[in-house]
Amino acid sequence: MSKGDTPMVRQYKEIKAKNSDKILFFRVGDFYEMFFEDAKIAARELEITLTSRETGKDNHVPLAGFPYHAADNYIARFIEKGYKVAICEQVNDPKTTKGLLKREIVRIITPGTMVEEKILEAKENNYLASIAAFRQRWAVATLDLSTGEFLATEFEGEKAKENAFDEFCRLSPAECLVTEELKNDSFWSKNKDNFLINFYPDSFFDFSKSEKILQEHFSAFMREDMDLTALPGLVCAAGALLNYLQENHSNTSHVKKIIVYHPDDYMMVDDISRKNLELTATIQDGKRKGSLLWVVDRTLTAMGGRLLKKWLEQPLINKENIVYRQNIVEEIREDISLRSSLLQHIKEIYDLERLISRINLGTSNARDFIFLKNTLLLLPPLKKILNKSKKLSSLAENIIILNEITDLIARAIKDHPPVTIKEGGIIKERFNPELDRLREISGNSKQWIAELEDKEKDRTGIKSLKIRYNRVFGYYIEVTNANLHMVPAEYMRKQTLANAERFITKELKEREAIILQAEESIKELEYNLFQEIRKKISRTTEAIQTSAATVAQVDCLLSLALVSLDNRYVKPEITLNDEIVITEGRHPVVEQVLTESLFVANDITLQAEDRFILLTGPNMAGKSTFLRQTALLVLMAQIGSFVPARQMKLGVVDRIFTRVGAADDLAGGRSTFMVEMNELANILKNATRRSLIILDEVGRGTSTYDGLSIAWAMTEFIHNRIKAKTIFASHYHELTALANTLSGIRNFNIVVKERGEEIVFLRKVVPGGADRSYGIQVARLAGLPVELIKRAKEILSTLEFNKIAWKNEVAAVQEGQSDIMFSVSKQMVMPERNQKIYSEIKERIEHLDLVSMSPLEVVQKVHELQLKIKHNELEEGNDDG
Ligand code: ADP
Ligand code: MG
Repeated sequence: MSKGDTPMVRQYKEIKAKNSDKILFFRVGDFYEMFFEDAKIAARELEITLTSRETGKDNHVPLAGFPYHAADNYIARFIEKGYKVAICEQVNDPKTTKGLLKREIVRIITPGTMVEEKILEAKENNYLASIAAFRQRWAVATLDLSTGEFLATEFEGEKAKENAFDEFCRLSPAECLVTEELKNDSFWSKNKDNFLINFYPDSFFDFSKSEKILQEHFSAFMREDMDLTALPGLVCAAGALLNYLQENHSNTSHVKKIIVYHPDDYMMVDDISRKNLELTATIQDGKRKGSLLWVVDRTLTAMGGRLLKKWLEQPLINKENIVYRQNIVEEIREDISLRSSLLQHIKEIYDLERLISRINLGTSNARDFIFLKNTLLLLPPLKKILNKSKKLSSLAENIIILNEITDLIARAIKDHPPVTIKEGGIIKERFNPELDRLREISGNSKQWIAELEDKEKDRTGIKSLKIRYNRVFGYYIEVTNANLHMVPAEYMRKQTLANAERFITKELKEREAIILQAEESIKELEYNLFQEIRKKISRTTEAIQTSAATVAQVDCLLSLALVSLDNRYVKPEITLNDEIVITEGRHPVVEQVLTESLFVANDITLQAEDRFILLTGPNMAGKSTFLRQTALLVLMAQIGSFVPARQMKLGVVDRIFTRVGAADDLAGGRSTFMVEMNELANILKNATRRSLIILDEVGRGTSTYDGLSIAWAMTEFIHNRIKAKTIFASHYHELTALANTLSGIRNFNIVVKERGEEIVFLRKVVPGGADRSYGIQVARLAGLPVELIKRAKEILSTLEFNKIAWKNEVAAVQEGQSDIMFSVSKQMVMPERNQKIYSEIKERIEHLDLVSMSPLEVVQKVHELQLKIKHNELEEGNDDG
């Protein structure tokens, strides 16, 4: 700290020293100012002007600032760039304080603790997450401060850590808290652009400390269903999270409970599969448009939107739960009047979750109260609608009617209040007698001033005399220069303008004091009344949260019903059998975006012994679409949605795994063979008999024979060991031979019709394997030069030799004469059978005892060997594959 610093700069430096990792918004009057390094960062990152402030002789500090009411915008931009922001306010009143004002940090804003409505996406949660381990147990806790939702889960066993990280990805938090011990784990470096990572020493996640924090926070409403003693990891993670919020001055009074969930209760869809299936965003550009969510989301409220996203990411695995949702969707779908009345009511409902959070956090204004009132008024009729319905009535009791609150707001708050809460104009007449009295004084006084103006005009004869008010001089009498000679002696001159003079009188000053006093009192009283009402409302937080959650559910179910109607979906039959049977299934997204042609529906049956489908067909035939379609329909069915098909029977699936080959996965930049093999390893480790595995082109990222061999061995492994239901799409039509040896494998291909040189895609999946790749035809369709296509055909026919060799190999494997992995790696060019012959010939030459042979005998022997070679080549020439 330099000696020449002014007291304020010294104060700034002290506060900044304790918040060195944050941008400090330092309140000075009506501005937030940033000094020194922060000012430079602001200038660089947000392109605001860098100036400097003189703080003593020869002492200038860099400065950047903006008016306080623009703060939201600047906060948002800093947060987006990955900074944290600390807000430092003046805590005592500048009007009554002499000298340096006291200043304090009132809030710290980080990506995971934002609540600003303007900044947050309405239909997305904004999560702060923490991850902690306690004796081999791994836990993840997640909190959305903007909604008050607090979730936590714990994993144990061998894969606990892996599962916890996966859960982490699913939640895609904006920010997270992690122990320093994990710092070197590659997970964090991979995700450092996805969320802000705060590393803390182990002590931050200490069990007893965390337990105490949780107990203190939840003591008032700790219930039986919140017994956390069996979940020590979870206590560490959740406690650390609350601790972080408290240290950041975040109000957590609206966080009323921890929802402990068990990932086993949901279908597991790992991070990669979620992305591959484009559940909530497309792979290509990460946009919502083109994802499954984009098709099924017709929710009318932000709460419903957030919940539906969760549903997609956490499909159910319990038949009763699925059927429960299905039945409601069905009822809404069938009952036109139920549907339209739900629609009508729900569309008017405001984001109650975030509203009640803001009210608790103290960032609300009187307009929020009006929104709240209008929404709460919709709840009684909604409850009535639910009660009348057969299936929805079970939800009605969770809509809680709060007449007292709506009455209070209706009586107290003006219908169109200002956004400010300290400037009055909020509270209605006749709500508070003292307020009415003060307003009368103030009102009467204004009347009195108007009368005074008239009186003075008459008395002085100055027609243009005016009585006005400004902040600096208060009330004054203004007389233009032309009339100055008529001003009475008792007027006191206060200010001179170019063409007028301003005066005050004793009488006017006395009245001014009364008015200002009254107005000051009015503002203060209105603010206090506002806060009292706010407190009363926040006492109903839990009830409002319960209603909000129910509205969100109804909104989601309504959305599913609307989509099923518009897109002609059917109700899938959920069974306890081991089956996936889809008749005339369609891809929910592709069918929406196809413009020129109609989507071709396809069937699929995976059950009992028929559990592995090998799908071949040329590029562009529709393999990937068919694969994803199957996975998506299963997933949709398990969230309770109807599905795009004529019929579907589904025995609940525990997990869906997908692997998309390197060639199809360029966008993510994850195109290396290693990544592909990693993903495959993960599937083989985690899949069960009840899983659905979707494999799209495995083994493409390496040489043909390597790739083919891996694909082959993998197919055997899944078929023999895991026995999961599997669809494997491959352009290796050579694999189709596998169906001959493995009983559970069936070949399908997607038909293309050849019309001369052209091919026509029929998009129809039919039994049998494809025998060709049609790659050149596809290339031709894509418009490659004719000359190139011609040359490619020449090369292809030369390469047919290898194909023949491969066929021979397949035959050998099937006859058990060859160890496929061994022979393939050794024999890139030379087929096994040739090799046998050649080694035989080599051996025979080596063993010739030339010393004891006559020249003729040698000639005979060599001729014999020549014939052998010739014969062999002849055989090969006859083999046309
Ligand atoms: P592949 O994986 O066999 O190369 P894709 O599944 O990527 O083929 O499909 C290629 C294109 O064909 C898709 O972009 C889609 O527009 C279209 N398509 C796929 N399946 C169908 C279908 N069943 N009906 C109509 N068009 C389809
Ligand atoms: Mg494909």
